[in-house]
Amino acid sequence: MISAHEALERLREGNRRFVSEVRSQHVFASEARRSALADGQEPFAIILGCSDSRVPAEIVFDQGLGDLFVIRVAGNIVAPSQIGSVEFAAERFGTRLVVVLGHSQCGAILATLDELRRPTANQSRNLHSIVDRVRPSVEALLNTELRHDPAALVRDAVRANVRVSAAHLRHGSEILEALIEKERLVVVGAEYSLETGVVDFFDGVPEPG
Ligand SMILES: [Zn+2]
Repeated sequence: MISAHEALERLREGNRRFVSEVRSQHVFASEARRSALADGQEPFAIILGCSDSRVPAEIVFDQGLGDLFVIRVAGNIVAPSQIGSVEFAAERFGTRLVVVLGHSQCGAILATLDELRRPTANQSRNLHSIVDRVRPSVEALLNTELRHDPAALVRDAVRANVRVSAAHLRHGSEILEALIEKERLVVVGAEYSLETGVVDFFDGVPEPG
């Protein structure tokens, strides 16, 4: 399995291809590739991203079949089933890199900010379980000067939510914590820009070496 650093470089290069519209997907999803993978997989990165239709991990990182182990849930929140999925991939495949991928204008963040400002009585319990997971990371921001600047508030809330999710993965599982301690796993946080297509890795990125 390639190192976390190499995996990160591969994602960065793929995102650069995506942004400059030189995507190689036809190769990545070829019949030859499909056949080669039928007996097993060795995904080089685990991506915990948002379900938003505009942020498909394989496309924005220009990767194909067998490359990424992707978990998608609105607001890229971390609940037990997400932790379990990451544990599974890290242990089973030896994947060294986990990326929590948030994005600009995330609907789950916007919904949480709305809910904090104007609570609704009859929101679905299931939807509420998502808002409840986002709430702690954005609540504090509403008590700062950011509340007067809606665009900056959303921007900071998206990043705060990514940081909290990444920290939760690093410390919310004995299995993952042990892998991180043995330097066999790295969890980083990133934000995808809907406007530019660029992924900015801004949290927990290790120094090269
Ligand atoms: Zn989203």
